[in-house]
Amino acid sequence: MILLTPGPLTTRISTRQAMLSDWGSRDSAFAALTANLRDRLVQIVHGEETHAAVPIQGSGTFVVEAALQTLVGADDKLLVLANGVYGERMASIAQRLGRRVEIRRWPVSSPVDAQEVKAALLRDATITHVGLVHCETTTGLLNPLEQVAQVVAEENRHLILDAMSSFGAIDIDVRKPPISAVLASSNKCLESVPGIAFAIVDKESLSRSSANSSSTSLDLHLQWQEFERSGQWRFTPPVQVVAATVEALDALDHEGGPKARLARYRDNFSTLLTGMKALGFRLYLDESVQSPIIATFRYPEFWTAGDGVFRFDDFYAAVARGGFLLYPGKLTEDKTFRIGCIGNVNKSDFEELLRVVADVLGTPDAR
Ligand SMILES: *Cc1c(COP(=O)(O)O)cnc(C)c1O
Repeated sequence: MILLTPGPLTTRISTRQAMLSDWGSRDSAFAALTANLRDRLVQIVHGEETHAAVPIQGSGTFVVEAALQTLVGADDKLLVLANGVYGERMASIAQRLGRRVEIRRWPVSSPVDAQEVKAALLRDATITHVGLVHCETTTGLLNPLEQVAQVVAEENRHLILDAMSSFGAIDIDVRKPPISAVLASSNKCLESVPGIAFAIVDKESLSRSSANSSSTSLDLHLQWQEFERSGQWRFTPPVQVVAATVEALDALDHEGGPKARLARYRDNFSTLLTGMKALGFRLYLDESVQSPIIATFRYPEFWTAGDGVFRFDDFYAAVARGGFLLYPGKLTEDKTFRIGCIGNVNKSDFEELLRVVADVLGTPDAR
């Protein structure tokens, strides 16, 4: 099966083969693997001088929760910039933690506006941290990271970036304007298997955050200290996932780094979009705000197959019989579905997908 999802996604055979060994979690060979992983995660966002990578067991949400617990203190205040499910989730995590939170919302089809962020920061000097989702996987919208980071830096606040679905493909530079924390996971653009997430955090913020987390396991400060002290994870690490992720980082280097990976995703996305348009489908977002990570399509209004009514479940099942797994939409107001462009997939996979969709439509191959 080819997974056209936001992750877990289609991985290389070499990445899965890297999981065939057993590793002793307290053995020096595994400590070296962990050190390798941490160094390379920091390099991806150019944080060698200032930042440390703190991996944690679990999916992406675990590191979002760990980061908010650890970096936002009881006297701090978090401003969350939301235009989708993941921004909303960030805010609800912080609320459940009892942190002071303000949320500013934009429509799901509109990027965050950096000037409005600036105004909000000027109005409220008690805001200490700003939470932004880089690529809102809800729709595939790319938020203006540089502009937001710029105003957050001008106002001397800390930016916490959920880069879950962009890390490893879309360039992120933590140096200028500075980003305090970048959050991501193994199973998206890094094209590894699921099981670890990580925060890449500036060391000053990590040093200052010892008293904040009230969780035993979701504490980035303690996790960081243990890596620095012994090179080991605090609790049982998913050793095979770490091995697979180091191998996936090798594959990223081999491909030519994030730039080359992004170029492949762009090629995937443009092949998909051109073909889907030719078949009569419409993209949900304006193309100017769309990332090449995942595409949201509206349910078609024309539909000639079956009884003439488009049902996503039937469409999904028919496309799955052709070898591809699509992804449902996440919008409450509009009927949509999603097709991911990330993973170990390339243009020829999308050409094949378009043949399958054309078949399902029962129309002649419109490309
Ligand atoms: C995938 C994702 C997450 C984390 O989701 P999990 O299901 O916990 O892995 C968080 N934010 C964004 C933007 C994501 O795409």
